[in-house]
Amino acid sequence: MTGRLNGKVAIVTGGASGIGEATVRRLHADGAAVVVADVRPEAIEALSDALQSDRIIGLRVDMMQTAEIEAMIAATVARCGGLDILVNNAGIGSFGRVTDIDLAHWREVMTIDVEAVMWASRTAMPFLAARQGCIVNVASVAGIAGDYGFAAYNAAKAAVINLTRAMALDHAPQVRVNVVSPGLTRTPLAEGLTGNAEIMAAWTDGLPMGRPAEPAEVAAAIAFLASPDASYINGHNLVVDGGGIAHTGMPN
Ligand code: NAD
Repeated sequence: MTGRLNGKVAIVTGGASGIGEATVRRLHADGAAVVVADVRPEAIEALSDALQSDRIIGLRVDMMQTAEIEAMIAATVARCGGLDILVNNAGIGSFGRVTDIDLAHWREVMTIDVEAVMWASRTAMPFLAARQGCIVNVASVAGIAGDYGFAAYNAAKAAVINLTRAMALDHAPQVRVNVVSPGLTRTPLAEGLTGNAEIMAAWTDGLPMGRPAEPAEVAAAIAFLASPDASYINGHNLVVDGGGIAHTGMPN
């Protein structure tokens, strides 16, 4: 516990699993009260039970629904008296080239991975501005360099990175807005996409660190950007990929 977020109120969307769960744990350990906003109530309950703290507040929210996003911000402010930190982490992965994708799936990815980030930020902005707050978005290295067969995801994460810059310009100095771009991270989402240990091993092969990130390593970067230690950092894309995109792609 560093105490650097004592008295702060944070929301972590998609907070019940993977990078979101690790971020909830880290912000809580740093002293914040944390709203775990997720679409899966049983996963929220499991995390709340594990942490056993009156600074953990579970909220069932479907980030596909703008009304539920608005209710999430309103409930947080009503219960905690304000909002200091919004972590827009909820996201879904997506396989497919443009020639494989159906429009309903494209729209689902764009809604959760981009529109929900915009709508939560828009709704939270006046409350964040009132307390010199900040937003940390979670994009991906796939939004910088692109992965084969992930057309919608690559496009969505690139949009999140530049939306971050737009908001950082438009809402400074009251609100800082930054983004973290993880590389392959050992979470249920990544395990679901890779399917089995063999594919995970193939994806990991060639990473400079020889392994994927642990969720806590990404959470540490998110917590840093959310903290007063990052008070002059705004509009920044912090890549947490163990050096993966430092590589041109030529064999070793
Ligand atoms: P995860 O699947 O482990 O967790 C995502 C959480 O989001 C889940 O708890 C899920 O219930 C929740 N969620 C999904 N749809 C939702 C909705 N409509 N409303 C509310 N909550 C919803 O995933 P993760 O790997 O921890 O991913 C978190 C973020 O990190 C995502 O934005 C993802 O794109 C990004 N990311 C992950 C990796 C990786 O390798 N795992 C790499 C780069 C970026």
